[in-house]
Amino acid sequence: MHRLVKTRDPRIGFTTVYRTLKLLAGCGLASEVAFHDGIARYEHQYNRRSHHHRVCTECGTSVEFFSEKVGEIEQHIGRAHRYQTTRHTFQIYGICGVC
Ligand SMILES: [Zn+2]
Ligand SMILES: [Zn+2]
Repeated sequence: MHRLVKTRDPRIGFTTVYRTLKLLAGCGLASEVAFHDGIARYEHQYNRRSHHHRVCTECGTSVEFFSEKVGEIEQHIGRAHRYQTTRHTFQIYGICGVC
């Protein structure tokens, strides 16, 4: 993203991009995706269908997938514990077909 923004305005630094992403996440337009590899990743949430990620532990690539069942589990657990759920994260780690 920093690379893209710099083509528009070379004065914009990495810290500004990072701070802006944090702001966007704070107001719900983006969200941080943690793959527990120490790298901060963000994705946009505007008009976004709920999805999950498969992460290859060899090459680090991540692929999005859709599963209504995961959303159903969230609702089910929420109801069972009288908990108004708002969101969840779900990642599958493994080795991709290329690796
Ligand atoms: Zn891989
Ligand atoms: Zn995603």
